[in-house]
Amino acid sequence: PGFQSMGLSAPLLRALKKVRYHTPSPIQAELIPEALEGRDVIGQAKTGTGKTAAFGIPLIEMLEARGKGPQGIILAPTRELVQQIVAELQTLADGQDVVICGIYGGEPIDKQLRALQRGVDLIVGTPGRVLDHIERRTLYLGDIYHVVLDEADRMLDIGFRPDIERILRKVPNPHQTLLLSATISPDIRKLAQRYMFEPVELNL
Ligand code: AMP
Repeated sequence: PGFQSMGLSAPLLRALKKVRYHTPSPIQAELIPEALEGRDVIGQAKTGTGKTAAFGIPLIEMLEARGKGPQGIILAPTRELVQQIVAELQTLADGQDVVICGIYGGEPIDKQLRALQRGVDLIVGTPGRVLDHIERRTLYLGDIYHVVLDEADRMLDIGFRPDIERILRKVPNPHQTLLLSATISPDIRKLAQRYMFEPVELNL
């Protein structure tokens, strides 16, 4: 089954064609339909499996017409990964009016602040800097519906658990959470139990 049979919109199918994604990878074939159904998903997936598009495609597909604040937040462990995710999402949103903003440490906060003030649909960030913006009240999560925790095991290893939990407590209910992790440890399960609703688990 290809991307065509997933009921994706014409602009997204055009973007996939342009970037030459002809066939869904295994994680994409499993995760995209579940996410489009609105379910919470735990996906065991390493880098190089196409996991970014696996969460990025349904995320972009489910965005509503521009709201006030961001509708989705993606948390990732490092600045490099955040930048890669932003680039991939921008490719997938090609031809659509979707504003994506990367938020990470090591870059002046004012620059990110101005980007946030212009209005964004999707936030991609490292937990520490995201929390920093929330505490300065330069980022409001009251309109968030979609949450992605990418490389969740690495984020916990780095010690981001308290930051992640503080951020998740600011997200209104109901919302949808997609969690991607190379390994599903007891700590990951604890996080999922506390913050996810009846997640489907995909091991690929
Ligand atoms: P990721 O696991 O998200 O880091 O993706 C690994 C690489 O696979 C990236 O360079 C993507 O651009 C590429 N990729 C993702 N999905 C597909 C697909 N369906 N077909 C071909 N390449 C893909």
